[in-house]
Amino acid sequence: MNAQHTPAQNQPVPFPSATVLGYPRIGRRRELKKAVEAFWSGSSSEAALLAAAESIQLATVRRLAELGLTAPSAIPGTFSFYDQVLDTLVALGGIPARFGNLHDAGGRLGLDAYFTLARGNAEQQPLEMTKWFDTNYHYLVPEIGPETRFSLSSERVVEEFSLAKANGTVTRPYLVGPVTLLALSKASDGAPAGFAPLSRLDDLLPVYSELLGKLAAAGAAWVQLDEPALVADLDGLSPHEASTAVERAYAALTATPVGEGRPAILLSAPYGSLGEQTAAVAATGVEAVAIDVFKGALPSAAELALFSGKTLVAGVVDGHNIWRNDLAASAQKLDALRTAGAEHGFAVAVATSTSTFHVPHDVDEEQQLDAGLRSWLAFADQKVGEVATLAAYLADPASVQDEIDEATRVIASRAQAPGVRRPEVRQRTGALTDADFSRSDFAARAAAQEEVLALPPLPTTTIGSFPQTSEVRGARARLTKGAIDAAEYEALMKDEIKRVVDLQEELGFDVLVHGEPERNDMVQYFAENLDGFDVTVHGWVQSYGSRCTRPSILWGDVSRQAGPSILWGDASSAAAITVPWTTYAQSLTDKPVKGMLTGPVTILAWSFVRDDQPLAETANQVALALRDEIADLEAAGIKVIQVDEPALRELLPLRRADQADYLDWSVKSFRLATAGAADSTQVHTHLCYSEFGAIIDAIDALDADVTSIEAARSRMEVVNDLEAHGFGRGVGPGVYDIHSPRVPSQEEIEDLLATAVAHVPARQLWVNPDCGLKTRGYAETEASLRNLVRATRAARAAL
Ligand code: GLN
Ligand code: ZN
Repeated sequence: MNAQHTPAQNQPVPFPSATVLGYPRIGRRRELKKAVEAFWSGSSSEAALLAAAESIQLATVRRLAELGLTAPSAIPGTFSFYDQVLDTLVALGGIPARFGNLHDAGGRLGLDAYFTLARGNAEQQPLEMTKWFDTNYHYLVPEIGPETRFSLSSERVVEEFSLAKANGTVTRPYLVGPVTLLALSKASDGAPAGFAPLSRLDDLLPVYSELLGKLAAAGAAWVQLDEPALVADLDGLSPHEASTAVERAYAALTATPVGEGRPAILLSAPYGSLGEQTAAVAATGVEAVAIDVFKGALPSAAELALFSGKTLVAGVVDGHNIWRNDLAASAQKLDALRTAGAEHGFAVAVATSTSTFHVPHDVDEEQQLDAGLRSWLAFADQKVGEVATLAAYLADPASVQDEIDEATRVIASRAQAPGVRRPEVRQRTGALTDADFSRSDFAARAAAQEEVLALPPLPTTTIGSFPQTSEVRGARARLTKGAIDAAEYEALMKDEIKRVVDLQEELGFDVLVHGEPERNDMVQYFAENLDGFDVTVHGWVQSYGSRCTRPSILWGDVSRQAGPSILWGDASSAAAITVPWTTYAQSLTDKPVKGMLTGPVTILAWSFVRDDQPLAETANQVALALRDEIADLEAAGIKVIQVDEPALRELLPLRRADQADYLDWSVKSFRLATAGAADSTQVHTHLCYSEFGAIIDAIDALDADVTSIEAARSRMEVVNDLEAHGFGRGVGPGVYDIHSPRVPSQEEIEDLLATAVAHVPARQLWVNPDCGLKTRGYAETEASLRNLVRATRAARAAL
């Protein structure tokens, strides 16, 4: 027995005083994205990819040590080729039978198998992808059934640990914990009805133990098992089932004493409070628990008493947003925890509340931002510094008084800075009354719209964007570089708009779009044209796999810009964001052209949003800016306006108790944006998911005249929800899955339409793709849309 690793009864196993729960893994200059995509395209070898991966891993370890994470086990294993859920699944071998045998002769799952699961192959769709808790990161969903076999199938996590160790650093390997892994899984295709993946927990645990044993043998002192499922109310997992699973799982994983074949375990619970699960987690034999005390509340005194003998790793620094930490407030939380720890015999360490892979690397990369704004921000590197400062505070409060005072001063200056609180914006939101949130009866609106639009039954439309060709993206890049001027850029965009309008005319669409060629991104485009926002240059964060997004920063009061925008600099369109493009498109056709706006909730969800006031208030400011834009579109003769809210579901709080309040303000903000429209203006919305059932009341409450939703991948399942709910307004369940280059046949679309007509009255139905077409190529888009219109004509004839 190794005395060093065997603590006396109730003495916490030493844990580093400062850590982060994770760090951006795509590389400071998106090196991993480039390396992975080159490998996929066949332009580079596996050896080149592995070399790039090693150099990213070592650079990360060096950087984190430089920033102050010098203690052994303070640096988490953060690397992933694609996704941390997939990493853990592949390590444990629980891959779906539908892929056949992906294991090699040695029983291992290699990189090819890994990417096959992530990206699919000629026969098999990839694993489904869905949002990771309330973030904009997407993970791959394991498919588990009674037939799933678990066996240690990849030791990549051990190899990654050994690589860092060979270079002088003992890191803390990361795995998704067993309860979360199964709670986030779906039942495999072959599983019997009602099968719960969590029922396979006991079969999975020995493989986790085996892997922990390998990590211990390689020299890992600590391992991090991430259990965010414990902060959420998940469908099909009652609080009782969750605590039972925690108890079973961690009894098995801690059965071996620490140091005798397993590392000490840090169970991390990011994204909110453990709430009811606190007692179950505290009762386990794990050596440390990381709790989120930024978004979540401090545990009660009685709950804290349960952590005796452990280390409580306090997530006081927000890992999910970019604002500089209020060190004085964090210090207060740490004081409370230290006092409780002294009383109850637990140690306290400092961490971020979540992994920092939700935020960019480094504020210092953004020298173009105003220095004031920059001083309010903390990206991943700055957060490591904050954690280190707060750990120093725990050791000796007086030693960091200057840093604490400086943070207090900067936060106070932020509150006073120009643009943060603008009286004219505040007056408008302050003066809102109920009437501002409501339109007239749908029946009256429908009649007025019918008169103006005179559409055929089953009207056809698209969701907004058309393929973003390399010419379009190239033109934008040249404008940014100054190689062309605004007038040239405008002319190129107009050419593209004309092409898109002509194509829709030729195909026979009823409601046209301009195609959104001018938009780099559906949120950033608005951020660039509204006051209160800024955008970054290097602020990329991983969205899924090799895909990254660059969220804008919403730091001040929002309104449309007072001055002329970069483009369309004439006074008449001074504040308008979309009007000139839309009216140009409308000038080319007699068919109605649909104006296209991004809704307030989506603008918030896909930006880094100020944290100094309730989201509801910020949402209303954005809504009023959009309301102004809608008024201008109407004045310019636009009769149909779509306000996209693909992120409505994403921001839904993880705890059921918080959901009603969220749905209330989010629905209101959409209504505030749209309720100024005339009865005769047809308001559309678009939602990007098919798990419709859970929030159908809220979707109904948006009160849009027409709602288009994703449905093709789920074979129109959504029409059952619509029927059961008695959804009474226009609805376009998508008939063309735009996530794949596949061209749906006319017959297939006719079948989908027949299903739709069987469940939803034909007079309410619209025909459209699942989502925007910007990631598709023109060839498949044209063929698919042609089939869509032909199928619609056939369906009309059959009505
Ligand atoms: N109007 C947007 C587009 O077509 C909608 C995108 C989305 O729903 N994500 O691109
Ligand atoms: Zn969509």
